[in-house]
Amino acid sequence: MPHPLLTTDIRGQMILLGTGTSVGVPAIGCGCPVCRSPNPRNRRTRCSVILGLPGGNLLIDTSPDLRQQLLREQIGLVHAVLYTHEHADHVYGLDDLRLMQFHLGGPVPLYCEPSVESRIRKSYDYAFINAEGFHPGAVPQLTFRRIGLEPFAALGAEITPIRLKHGKRFDVLGFRVGDVAYCTDVNAIPPESMDRLAGLDVLVLDALRTRGHATHFSLEEAIEVARQLAPRQTYFTHMSHELEHEATNAQLPQGMALAYDGLRINLT
Ligand SMILES: [Zn+2]
Ligand SMILES: [Zn+2]
Ligand SMILES: [Zn+2]
Repeated sequence: MPHPLLTTDIRGQMILLGTGTSVGVPAIGCGCPVCRSPNPRNRRTRCSVILGLPGGNLLIDTSPDLRQQLLREQIGLVHAVLYTHEHADHVYGLDDLRLMQFHLGGPVPLYCEPSVESRIRKSYDYAFINAEGFHPGAVPQLTFRRIGLEPFAALGAEITPIRLKHGKRFDVLGFRVGDVAYCTDVNAIPPESMDRLAGLDVLVLDALRTRGHATHFSLEEAIEVARQLAPRQTYFTHMSHELEHEATNAQLPQGMALAYDGLRINLT
């Protein structure tokens, strides 16, 4: 008897699986008030979202907290993964996708740029050696789908990549699906990318902390970008323990709020 599948129909929604910076909140060994807060909205796993598209569930990034995130939201199926960039906090939950090859009956498609593919091929070399003699669930079965800046179709939706700067010399991707955009790990948005973010309903945007940072928007910088783009609603993500949820939210302009783990956004 096969085990019954436990999963939730999330079609038409984007779920914020994780909204924390690279070390997560609470941070290991930190006794600050936010890290010790009993408010669940001050608990942030590493950044990731999942989209319920017409053809299945598209995960953006495989955070080290992926297993706990999918269990928490009772999402049992990931049909494909789309990567923003290859930093550890966005990649190193990948091995947990081993279960998906049974549901999909084949490898999990990974949509990414060449730099991400090369990092995954190095870090997960055991998934790409000749696996003869391995049992079928021993290593993740993966297949790459290369993307650039051209819009592409995945799981029945059109996805528009958005070039973002994550520090002076490092380029990453944000993504727009319909009138919802997800832009994490960014400290500058080139003008042509600002054009691709015009007319949004919802923008999810990096805002690390109040102080400035070399590779992430500060809260003030993120507010300024949100003002320029003027979506109906902006949610900030990739937050450190310096942003207390309630106190920070109370000071934000109208139409802007901190995201939190488990937040659901309608895809339009
Ligand atoms: Zn990150
Ligand atoms: Zn702390
Ligand atoms: Zn990063």
